[in-house]
Amino acid sequence: MADTVTNWAGNITFAARELLRPHSLDALRSLVAASGRVRVLGSGHSFNELAEPGADGALLSLDALPAEADVDTAARTVRVGGGVRYAELARRVHEQGLALPNMASLPHISVAGSVATGTHGSGVGNGPLAASVREVEIVTADGSTVVVGRGETRFGGAVTSLGALGVVTALTLDLEPAFEVEQHLFTELPLDGLDFETVAAAAYSVSLFTDWRAPGFRQVWLKRRTDQPLHAFPWAAPATVALHPVPGMPAVNCTEQFGAPGPWHERLPHFRAEFTPSSGAELQSEYLLPRRYAVDALDAIDGIRETVAPVLQTCEVRTVAADEQWLSPSYGRDTVALHFTWVEDTARVLPVVRRLEEALDAFEARPHWGKVFTVPAETLRGRYPRLADFAALVRELDPAGKFTNTFVANVLGH
Ligand SMILES: Cc1cc2nc3c(=O)[nH]c(=O)nc-3n(C[C@H](O)[C@H](O)[C@H](O)COP(=O)(O)OP(=O)(O)OC[C@H]3O[C@@H](n4cnc5c(N)ncnc54)[C@H](O)[C@@H]3O)c2cc1C
Repeated sequence: MADTVTNWAGNITFAARELLRPHSLDALRSLVAASGRVRVLGSGHSFNELAEPGADGALLSLDALPAEADVDTAARTVRVGGGVRYAELARRVHEQGLALPNMASLPHISVAGSVATGTHGSGVGNGPLAASVREVEIVTADGSTVVVGRGETRFGGAVTSLGALGVVTALTLDLEPAFEVEQHLFTELPLDGLDFETVAAAAYSVSLFTDWRAPGFRQVWLKRRTDQPLHAFPWAAPATVALHPVPGMPAVNCTEQFGAPGPWHERLPHFRAEFTPSSGAELQSEYLLPRRYAVDALDAIDGIRETVAPVLQTCEVRTVAADEQWLSPSYGRDTVALHFTWVEDTARVLPVVRRLEEALDAFEARPHWGKVFTVPAETLRGRYPRLADFAALVRELDPAGKFTNTFVANVLGH
């Protein structure tokens, strides 16, 4: 490639021989039909080689296509282009008095890339972001378009698809009337005696943060919809200063706190669209396991906290409601998601990731597809009961493997 292309974190330099940036859908179709191996690069926020096509393949970016986000106010849906990011989508949807039910911690990520990896926010009643998708439009290997809608059998594999079916050029999402959210932050929630179910259900979206330098949580973030009841939170003290989830980082990068009501898209993410999210110099891992294991899994991490803490910037605990995408880490099970923002040092982080995975192995943990993990492919396959259905869908839509790469082949067992 003329210019080096890396992911957002800079820990992956893509080996691809070229980066294709079509300016129209017709040009995209022609490029795809004429290409050998090709993988789409979304906003590049994944921390592993999921998007890598290999040295003989091409990366395809959709960022030069028109940023479509067509809201249908009567149907309460939006049809969004395959390169559009949540920040832009949220602005357009909010202008029409409508809302997405949930967002991830940052609005900088592309919609298609996020739902491809099972990206999620938090909330015992909130599925992953892919749960809002009602239809997906995919340009397949010969340049033609396949449209798959909710209710069709193959829809279960069509949204959280790891980019393995083709180029997602548009998604139609369900919307709801716009709502307001307040963020209430608390500090020092003990792990000892934690009633996880009650704490996790204390607001529309709940996140617990810890650096594991001591047992328990340094911060609790409650995101309350103003149209839902305000629950008391007697287990921790209200924060007296604005906080960033990573200790020492400036809270100005974060969405407004202290219970100030504001539009859904300016409160559901932790980080403001106009600032660098998180710490910016980091690696991330995340494990999603059945919610009933939450306290046992947190105790298991507490048991190795002296190994974890030295390479950790922050750990976030969230919940995700069960969904129906076959490759979703929250497929079929109400989930607790255990996230780790590590220091930016792969050599120091990887052994800790392995140790953590051993500690979580008994809890049927599924790693986030877009983050750093070392779980063997064979173990992974055993954790996805509909993997064979997904593999069949890949064979149907991409028989020659134009959109497959080493990562996907491992997952599929090829
Ligand atoms: C600071 C930070 C915070 C994060 N916070 C969260 C969080 O709160 N919750 C969470 O769950 N995750 C979180 N993530 C992870 C992130 O959401 C995922 O990595 C997600 O995939 C990012 O989307 P992307 O567009 O950058 O994807 P990329 O990394 O660009 O691509 C991911 C996959 O999607 C495929 N893809 C992308 N676009 C298309 C398309 N149009 N058609 C077909 N395939 C496509 C790619 O080929 C690749 O396989 C965070 C990441 C960062 C860096």
